[in-house]
Order: sequence, then C-alpha cells, then structure tokens
Amino acid sequence: MIKKIIQKLLPKSHKKGVNAFDFGVHQKLLPKYALKTVKALQDAGFEAYIVGGAVRDLLSGLTPKDFDVATNAAPDEVRRVFRRGRIVGKRFPIVILPFGSELLEITTFRGNVTAPQNEQGRIMRDTAFGTRSEDARRRDFTCNALYYDPVAEKIYDDLNGIADIHARRLVMIGKPDERFREDPVRMLRAARLSAKLGFGMDNEIVESIRTNSFLLKNEPPARLFDEITKELLCGNSSGCLNNMKMLGIPVDIHPIFAIMMTHEDDTTRHFVETVLAKTDERVKHKKPVSIAFLLAALFWHKLRQIEQDLHTLDDKPTQTLHAAIRQIREDGGLHWGVPNRLFAMIREIWQLQVQFAFIRGKRPYRLLKHPNFRAAYDFYVLRCANNDADTDPAIAQFWTKFQAANEEQRLQMTQVIAENKGNKKRRRRKIKRDYQAESDL
Ligand code: ATP
Ligand code: MG
Repeated sequence: MIKKIIQKLLPKSHKKGVNAFDFGVHQKLLPKYALKTVKALQDAGFEAYIVGGAVRDLLSGLTPKDFDVATNAAPDEVRRVFRRGRIVGKRFPIVILPFGSELLEITTFRGNVTAPQNEQGRIMRDTAFGTRSEDARRRDFTCNALYYDPVAEKIYDDLNGIADIHARRLVMIGKPDERFREDPVRMLRAARLSAKLGFGMDNEIVESIRTNSFLLKNEPPARLFDEITKELLCGNSSGCLNNMKMLGIPVDIHPIFAIMMTHEDDTTRHFVETVLAKTDERVKHKKPVSIAFLLAALFWHKLRQIEQDLHTLDDKPTQTLHAAIRQIREDGGLHWGVPNRLFAMIREIWQLQVQFAFIRGKRPYRLLKHPNFRAAYDFYVLRCANNDADTDPAIAQFWTKFQAANEEQRLQMTQVIAENKGNKKRRRRKIKRDYQAESDL
C-alpha cells in the first residue's frame, strides 16, 4: 500500500524502470566498491545509480573498464557521505573516490538550464544541478543515458537507449549540430564508441561531424590527449582511425593524430599499423597495455628523422639522441597535453634501446631491473620484427631467453660471452707475443 502511494508521488520517469535481470544485468556483475557506493548514497537518503559506459557495456556483453555513479546529492553532500572523496573539476565539479588503484567518479545530476556558451555555441561552464531525467538529456548518446539501480535491480531508460543498443545504433540525444557545437569532443567520442561497440552512426551524425569537425582545433590539448588515450586503448584503435578518416576529422587537431593518420613512407605506415593491431589484440585478450610504449612506437620514426637531421660527425650518438628527444618534446608534438611523467617513460624506452646490445657480464642484470625494461624490450622486439635499423633478432632472442631463465642459466648465458672475452684477451696477448718475437728477430 505504502509502496503504491510512494510510486504515485514519484515523477513519471521513475515508473519506466525495467527489470535489470531481463537484460542480463545484475548486481553481481559490479565490483563490490561500486555497489557499496550506491548503497551508501541511497542509505543517506539520495538517489544513486550506476550510469554511462558501464551500463552500456554490460548491456552489450562487454566488461566495463570503469564505473561511474550519478546522484542527486550535490558534491559537498557526497563528501559528507564519503570523507575520502575529493571534489575536482571547474566546468562541472564531481567527486572522485579512490578504491585501491580504481577511481570512482560520482557526478551530480546536471540540469537543463541554458549553460553559458561562446560565439560558436560551445558550453563554457555547466554548473546547474538537476533531476535524473534532465541529466539523461545532457548526456551525449542514448546508449550512454541509462541509469542502473543495482539495489532495486532496475534500469531507467527515458531515451530508448536499450533499444538502440540492441539495434547497434549510435543515436545522438538532441540535434547533432547543436550537441557537437556545445562540445566538439563528442565528435571524437562518436568515432570511438561506434568503433569500440561496432555501432552504426546515423547519417545525420556523419554529416554533422563532416561540417563541424574543424571546431576540434580549438579544444584544449590535454582534453584531446585524454580522448586519444581512450581511442588507443579501446580495443579497436584501427577502427577509430578509419572512422576519423571517414568522418573527415582534420589530421592537424593534435600531433598524435597526425602521426597516426599521415605517413612519410610505407615502412612508417606499416610500423604504425602493426603497433595499433598488436595493441588491439592485447586489449581484447585483457593483457596490460602501456601508453608509454605506444607513444614511443608511434613517434619512433619521427625521432630517428630528427636524429639524422641533427647529427654531425663531431657528436656522440647519445648526444644526438638527447638533442632529438628534446626537440620532439619541444616542437615535435609530444608536449601537447602529454603529462611529464609519461614523457619521462617514453624517453627512457627510447634511451634503453641501445642498451640491448650489451649482453655481457653484469649489464644484462642491470637492464632487467630497470622499471621500464618490459616496455623497452617489447619495443625492441617490435623493431626487430619490422627489420628496423640497428636491431638484431639474435639479441632479441637472447633477451627473451634471459627473462625466462633461472639464476644458473642466466649466469651461463652471460658467462659464455665472458669466456669469449677471456679468449679474446688471450688471443690478443698471443698476437702481441708473436709480434714481439718477430721484432726481436
Ligand atoms: P568509456 O568509459 O568506455 O570510455 P564512457 O561513455 O563511460 O566510455 P566516460 O568518459 O567515462 O565515457 O563518460 C561517462 C558518461 O558521461 C558517458 O557515458 C556519457 O553519458 C557522459 N559523457 C561523457 N562525456 C560526455 C560529453 N562530452 N558530453 C555529454 N556526455 C558525456
Ligand atoms: Mg566510463
């Protein structure tokens, strides 16, 4: 009885909740921390749902890579429930809640109050809070506007997202022209999501992106870089690139896109294609992927070109390499929104390449202990497979074996060469002796 009265009092869209079980979604598919967070907010008297990509992925039979929570609690109210939460973001403040290495984003429902826009229609600030159904309309695509309540086991689907997921269609909420001008990054999201999910794009979306993609040139590099990272790691980076080409997205919106989409020659193109295909393969098999490795590989030929241009006969090769790395950071494109820590890793992967040739004595042990050894080794193997200059398949084999070997085997592998060194010394001494004998005559 009481339940019926409450249901009557609730806004209409609440009634539209469908049974999550009917769509193969249930709370056991969520990590404990996500369920606990929703429960804690609901126990404190707020609405709380799992929202966005996680619900979409669960409904598509994919494993979500992160879980976002949406609530009617304002950020400071969320903070009162979770003292560990941190409020971040200027455009729209959200609460970040760490759980070990995972970060949960808790977003307050956005309202549909007209947000301040610039002359091109881009939203500059978006701070009005709203209801769940208003929040749904502020999202980008219908498949991303689903709200899952894991306690009640209900999914709220005001905008027909479930049907669009089943029909494998990427459908924009509202008019594409308007929504892309409000936030041009949505164009890249369309290219990525359609590739990742295998969804078709409406003609209206395609046409609108072809007209408006130039707006991406004004986006902050750090935001573009975040989107690039997502494209590289989504499991279908090659598909994302093809979509971007099909949609006519200008190559010069970011140097990383430029390096992926334009190629000096066939070797470079083949190299980039191999890197992307291998990455997609790893993501599909749930193997870890290093973004530092990827960028080191994508910019490798450009680095070598700069190195060649800078090289003079007086320079030591390491000096030239350092100068080329500095140049690629300063105006070669790797400063565009690339965090310093990540760049430091990329630099190390490049610098370690020459170290692989040293397989004698203690040096292999030192290299193996290097924090970026694995990424640098993977890169060396990739270079070998592509017959890159200054690589040797025998050396790559040595390192593959050396990693798998036990202590005794490792000692042997390095000792064999040490013995050779001894032989060499002996041989040199013999030559010296013979020479001495000859000159004594
Ligand atoms: P994934 O996490 O798989 O990359 P996602 O859709 O979850 O994809 P997030 O960046 O995690 O992407 O965003 C979470 C949700 O926030 C989205 O599903 C969407 O509802 C909303 N969202 C994200 N970016 C935008 C945007 N630029 N405009 C409108 N809504 C957005
Ligand atoms: Mg997400």
